[in-house]
Amino acid sequence: MNNDDFRIWSRRAADWGADYRETLRERPVRAGAQPGDIAAMLAPWPPEAPEPMEAIFADFERDIVPGMTHWQHPRFFAYFPANAAPASVVAEYLVSAMAAQCMLWQTSPAATELETRVIDWLRQALGLPEEFSGVIQDSASSATLSAVLVMRERALEWAGNRAGLSGLPRLRIYASDQVHTSIDRAIWVSGVGEENLVRIPTGGRWRSMQPAALEAAIEADRAAGFLPAGVIASVGGTSVGGTDDVAGVAAVAARQGLYLHVDAAWAGSAMICPEFRHFWLGVEQADSVVFNPHKWLGAQFDCSVHFIRDPESLVRTLAIKPEYLRTHGKDGIVNYSEWTVPLGRRFRALKLWFLLRAHGLEGLRLMIRNHVRWSENLASRIAEVPGFEIVTEPMLSLFTFRHQAFDEQQVDEHNLALLQAINDDGRIYLTQTRVDGRVAIRFQVGQFDACEADVETAFEVITGIAARLATGGD
Ligand SMILES: *Cc1c(COP(=O)(O)O)cnc(C)c1O
Repeated sequence: MNNDDFRIWSRRAADWGADYRETLRERPVRAGAQPGDIAAMLAPWPPEAPEPMEAIFADFERDIVPGMTHWQHPRFFAYFPANAAPASVVAEYLVSAMAAQCMLWQTSPAATELETRVIDWLRQALGLPEEFSGVIQDSASSATLSAVLVMRERALEWAGNRAGLSGLPRLRIYASDQVHTSIDRAIWVSGVGEENLVRIPTGGRWRSMQPAALEAAIEADRAAGFLPAGVIASVGGTSVGGTDDVAGVAAVAARQGLYLHVDAAWAGSAMICPEFRHFWLGVEQADSVVFNPHKWLGAQFDCSVHFIRDPESLVRTLAIKPEYLRTHGKDGIVNYSEWTVPLGRRFRALKLWFLLRAHGLEGLRLMIRNHVRWSENLASRIAEVPGFEIVTEPMLSLFTFRHQAFDEQQVDEHNLALLQAINDDGRIYLTQTRVDGRVAIRFQVGQFDACEADVETAFEVITGIAARLATGGD
């Protein structure tokens, strides 16, 4: 492709993106594809000869787009949001054109210095103390893996990377039963092992672990010869928003000399609003905190911010300095690849810079406050409709509900059927979870372009389809 064609096709792509966003409300949120539908349309062999861009682009529109679930759809109420505010998408076009490697300061000085600055902007925006610095990761899973590796190395006095884990004391890491599966994977990959992830039961309105129960588990483990290494606290768990008493957990971690990591991947964005910070009171005592600006804040996916109190222990765990990566004579500068598992790093700070400047914190706070308010209103309206029950009250903008079945035995099946009918309808998209073993339907609003009318549509779809199912209609 020559540069003239690059110009033409870049413009076509930008126009396509704007048209796409403009027409999203008319599309079904979730792809209607059956497994294998898309694969059947794709050439089984790689092309030997070049093909014209016109043909490639046409196939993209015809074969690929209809098989997509539309995460930028304003009525995407499933999972958690993965947003891409237009200003951040524009920044991504630019990043993609430059395709710079941002592993060392000298491989992209502006990227490193902008990363340091936007992380500090976010630190201030979230009300975290000055001691915190941080790094941008691809995902919360990577940040949590790094945190678990630090827990491991710190507890083993830095012997794990060198000697491997065999023959060393058995480590223990503690978390509530509400934490995300990325914690399990960090535990597996770090070699700590699932059996050494101690899950503390949760209770109360926010499904928190009891600090006393946590401390008892740690002491029992020590007495049994295990080596406690760290605690992971949840703020806004994925299932129903499970949130620990961070101050209580931090006090235990401090008394026990354990590393504390806080997973606020989704809920962290809401902490730009001071009135929501009660959900993570005590967070300033954590050793690290992760939140995903790509979830609720609007940064184009992927963008996860990992705040760290003491980068020394992280760098000591992860930094490798072969000769070809040494930046002679430039000591004192930050090389962010020493803070992450991957060496090569994308320039993710640019989209945060565009996003924060284009909307301002006030604009982003307004969006998040609206989402929380709309969600609370919807929960109270659904609660008033006969046959519906709110299973878990809103934690920020996430709540769960359930619809009664004629036969009490069939309530799980009935709610899964209701969910399927809602999603087949196409106007909204919801997902399910289990609360105390039983199916509940999740609702969260967090999509960047959502407005109150979209939440109103959700009410009509949910109650309308439930009524239709109840009268035996299809
Ligand atoms: C989404 C989520 C994660 C995982 O995030 P990735 O960035 O996809 O790895 C972890 N924890 C919580 C609470 C989440 O909501």
